[in-house]
Amino acid sequence: MTRTVYVNGEYLPETEATVSIFDRGFLMADGVYEVTSVLDGKLIDFEGHAVRLERSLNELEMPAACSKEELLEIHRELVKRNEIVEGLVYLQITRGSDGDRDFVFPDPETTKPSIVLFTQNKPGLADNPAAKKGAKIISIEDIRWGRRDIKTVQLLYPSMGKMMAKKAGADDAWLIEDGYVTEGTSNNAYFVKKGKIVTRPLSNDILHGITRKAVLRMAEEAQMEVEERLFTIDEAKEADEAFTTSASAFVMPVVEIDGVALGDGTPGPIAKRLREIYLDESMKAAI
Ligand code: PMP
Repeated sequence: MTRTVYVNGEYLPETEATVSIFDRGFLMADGVYEVTSVLDGKLIDFEGHAVRLERSLNELEMPAACSKEELLEIHRELVKRNEIVEGLVYLQITRGSDGDRDFVFPDPETTKPSIVLFTQNKPGLADNPAAKKGAKIISIEDIRWGRRDIKTVQLLYPSMGKMMAKKAGADDAWLIEDGYVTEGTSNNAYFVKKGKIVTRPLSNDILHGITRKAVLRMAEEAQMEVEERLFTIDEAKEADEAFTTSASAFVMPVVEIDGVALGDGTPGPIAKRLREIYLDESMKAAI
């Protein structure tokens, strides 16, 4: 099926949608993005994504391409036109194109941001068989830039990390900086020891996950113990269980780290419970 996508104010068939070759997103990765999941035809935590998008834009002194209300309308329209029941809405805003290549930011008065949205149809997103099996991860060095709190489209190293994992027969990689785990290539990282959930605190070193925020709140509401602190990969390897969170995979159990099985090598009870609670509560609050 040819998707309908949104580009700079227009809904178009994907085959007819174009962006300039001078777009700074293309030339310089000068752009930010959000991925919002859709379950039962509704958007999960749209508000959280909209707030983080605004923050990313502000941090990069990039003008907003449209209002939050317009963004919601575009998301909903794309979900409707593409008949998405379970899937994702990808949104990207770049600093646009001033018709040439220059390191200096163009004048925002004359160069408007580019905005692109498209849907990805993912039947079975909630009932994902991968979540029943759990993920195997490897650890690799974190060599990304120092503003990982801004959700930019510079995703080359995370892509390379996924490829390293794939080549090693694993599903994903966790990144290590100065001896401590920062996060996964495209998710936040957690381990559980004696019932306590441990995850790295927020800073410029990691993305402030929308799912992380919701899951930590739900864990506390469910009387689970949560500790935000730095942790090493060795601690995670000795854990009872581990998991990751992201808007597209929700809560994903981790069953193996660098070839070491966690617990009995199957998804742990806390990860499974948090996945259930997250899906249940998020679907109730979806819009
Ligand atoms: N960290 C990184 C590096 C990511 O790319 C993502 C997913 N975009 C996350 C964490 C998880 O964030 P969220 O829960 O908002 O999807």
